[in-house]
Amino acid sequence: MAEILVLGAGMVGVSTGLALQARGHQVTIVERGTPGRETSYGNAGLIQTEAVEPYAMPLSPGALIQIALGRGYDVRWNIPGLMSQLEAVWTYAKNSLPTAHRRATVTWGKLIRQSTERHAPLIEAAGADNIIRRDGYIEIHRTPAKMAMARIAAQRFLDEFGVEAKLMDGRELRGLEPSIKIEVEGATHWQDAWTCSDPGGLVAAYAALFERHGGRIVNGDAGDLHREGSGWRADDYTGEHAVVALGPWSPMLLVRYGLKVPMVFKRGYHRHYHMTTPPNHPIADFGNSVVLSPMRRGLRIATAAELTSHPRLAPPQLSHGEKAARELFDIGAPVEAEPWTGRRPCMPDMLPVVGRIPDQPTYGPISAMVIRDSPLARSRRKSLLKRWTAARAGRKFHPRG
Ligand SMILES: Cc1cc2nc3c(=O)[nH]c(=O)nc-3n(C[C@H](O)[C@H](O)[C@H](O)COP(=O)(O)OP(=O)(O)OC[C@H]3O[C@@H](n4cnc5c(N)ncnc54)[C@H](O)[C@@H]3O)c2cc1C
Repeated sequence: MAEILVLGAGMVGVSTGLALQARGHQVTIVERGTPGRETSYGNAGLIQTEAVEPYAMPLSPGALIQIALGRGYDVRWNIPGLMSQLEAVWTYAKNSLPTAHRRATVTWGKLIRQSTERHAPLIEAAGADNIIRRDGYIEIHRTPAKMAMARIAAQRFLDEFGVEAKLMDGRELRGLEPSIKIEVEGATHWQDAWTCSDPGGLVAAYAALFERHGGRIVNGDAGDLHREGSGWRADDYTGEHAVVALGPWSPMLLVRYGLKVPMVFKRGYHRHYHMTTPPNHPIADFGNSVVLSPMRRGLRIATAAELTSHPRLAPPQLSHGEKAARELFDIGAPVEAEPWTGRRPCMPDMLPVVGRIPDQPTYGPISAMVIRDSPLARSRRKSLLKRWTAARAGRKFHPRG
């Protein structure tokens, strides 16, 4: 049994804490705010098992022109936002090409297929059943052309990955979602996915479970993580091992150890809207780059990716999403005065980073989550090791101050 510090109490940190606890370790989670109030609060609430292919950067000439001209709503950018992550975005683009993407899919697909079965015992033990639905989400297709493409995609997902989906025409869709007020060509019902009506609440419930099982969640700043003896100290707390689970803030900490983590920060926005008769399922309107999720606070309109350093007060992706949502549903006024914003922490090879930092045989900080070995993971570890070793050769290890 070891004493372990987990840095960050988002979904990744809290689930890592629970997993370590289940293996008999004594775990302290260091969180500067409240568990589950950052990225893990703001998402669309989809617990996806069907998304076996990681999200690739759109690379068709049409999509690239749209992105370059700032016309589409899938990926928006500005010059400082793009320049600050150019290398990572470039690698992400290369990894979005078919061969690399297929390689990433092998690992990613295995991980994501487990998501609901891994959540199930935690949801039950945490008593969070009231915020979980187990009847999937609906992807709408507004035009016959989009519906035809959806048929091909559904067949391919079934043949290649065994993922089942129900295709519906407009009439069937209206039966399932009577609050949709316009004619829509059809939809794909991804029935296997689960959805959550309060993603931040789910993390809070897991955090309470972790504490009930004897774990500690302490308020502190993990930004000063440093060596102490043969272990680690963050703020006033010590452990033999440290797990970095700071989401989009992880690279900022690790760079102090000479470890450059090339992350793509995909900013997203959401806002809730009052609604008398919400849809029965989250509705993905990918043609308009938006997901509309019925949440406890109202209908949450969540946007796609923006590569910007600073958030906007009136994000065009959200205004566009709101317009698309108002075409579909009778929606009332916004619940909040301003939209929420956060950054999706994405690695350029579309896989989570997991494992011990290579030349830290016993006490390395690691960036959390679970991953199986793969050629991509191996080559990334090699390059991390190179940078880590080079940086350490010219630098004192203790990085404080
Ligand atoms: C708009 C949007 C929609 C999304 N939709 C989905 C979806 O439907 N399904 C899905 O699976 N994913 C979705 N995601 C992605 C998902 O939300 C993230 O991948 C996930 O929440 C990341 O969790 P995390 O624990 O790594 O990060 P976070 O939740 O950000 O947790 C990091 C924690 O570290 C803490 N922290 C940071 N710095 C310090 C410090 N110095 N000291 C102490 N603590 C610190 C923060 O306070 C925070 O609590 C979406 C993301 C966005 C933005």
